[in-house]
Amino acid sequence: MDVSNSFVFNVPTKALVGPGKLNDLHKEINTYNGAITGTKAMVVISNGKSVRANGYLDRVLEQLKLAGVDYVIYDKIGANPVIAMVEDGRDFCRENGCDFIVAIGGGSVIDAAKHISMLATNDGGIWDYAQGGTGGKKNPENRALQSVAIPTTAGTGSETDAGGVVTNVETNEKIGIKGKGTAPELAIVDAELMMSVPKDFKAYQGFDAIFHSTESILTHKLNTVSRMIALEAISTVARNLTRAVNDPEDVDAMQAVAYGSYLSGMGMMTGLLTGAHGIEQSMSGRYGDLPHGAGLILICKQYYQWFIDHHACDDKFIEMARAMGAEGTDDPQDFIRMLQKLEEECGVDRIRMTDWGMDPSTFENIVWIAFDSTPWLFDNDPIEMNQEAYVQMMMDAFEQKGVK
Ligand SMILES: [Zn+2]
Repeated sequence: MDVSNSFVFNVPTKALVGPGKLNDLHKEINTYNGAITGTKAMVVISNGKSVRANGYLDRVLEQLKLAGVDYVIYDKIGANPVIAMVEDGRDFCRENGCDFIVAIGGGSVIDAAKHISMLATNDGGIWDYAQGGTGGKKNPENRALQSVAIPTTAGTGSETDAGGVVTNVETNEKIGIKGKGTAPELAIVDAELMMSVPKDFKAYQGFDAIFHSTESILTHKLNTVSRMIALEAISTVARNLTRAVNDPEDVDAMQAVAYGSYLSGMGMMTGLLTGAHGIEQSMSGRYGDLPHGAGLILICKQYYQWFIDHHACDDKFIEMARAMGAEGTDDPQDFIRMLQKLEEECGVDRIRMTDWGMDPSTFENIVWIAFDSTPWLFDNDPIEMNQEAYVQMMMDAFEQKGVK
């Protein structure tokens, strides 16, 4: 296997990992050895009800009171953050004189909090800092505000990763953006806050964590550290996701998936994602209701099958299949079989593109936008898969064919 010993290790986020760790947040603010220094927090949550209804918001506010800091609550983040949303958040942050951010919620909330933290200290709008497509390709001059990420879902890895995706609704582009200091200063990875997620979303998010790691193994730019992290993440999530999805009381299984997701974020800071994420971001850029993890599940088998058919990296597929539980196998195809088995066990094997109104007449445009706005993801594929092949892959995924 071609694995490089040359890499950059950049994982600056302090992490408190384990059930009940939220109770230690106050010890991290304005204390000796604490991660955060500040006097006024902007608490960022979604525009939905769950963080309040489940009591998570109250628990966070209680921690801020214990730390003796002031706070304001910003509750306007929707699924798949768009430009206007994060810029409204920046205005709110500035108007209230906040000097750090606490994000509690799913990947969209944590991603939006990163954009707000960067815009609060820099001129211009968020799209000025997008590095692909119609983005302004500027570099932020100043460090972002410090932030705390408290995920209530397990899958995006956003709590340890510096980047956050944002959608430009005028162009249907969805691009990951990062800057100096956008990786959260502190992450609290506490499964007690993740137990109330609906079953299908737990599955979508868990698969997202797996795909962050399978893609970082797949890339021809694989390095020894990203390989180590990704294999552990794949193994942990694959072996615990079924229990976490099907038993809403199983905190241990949920914490294991949360640990795997956290690792997958670390993997993205040392390794790289590939074309499947490029295509999915373009899919959910156009079809805004499509959950990111569901979009990845919809194309995953045809995507990986293409590289198996072309013998791009048989040894990597064998290694990943073994990590998922097919011990002793020497057949790359077992990777697809393990994915299929996990989909069935988690009850997401029957989702279809038509469930989100996806129309094959849009596929060529989706692929074109993906290649234009995130070309680096396609450059990371193990061997070149061109735009025509990607359109065919999407057609096969639409028709549920092409998998052996
Ligand atoms: Zn993802």
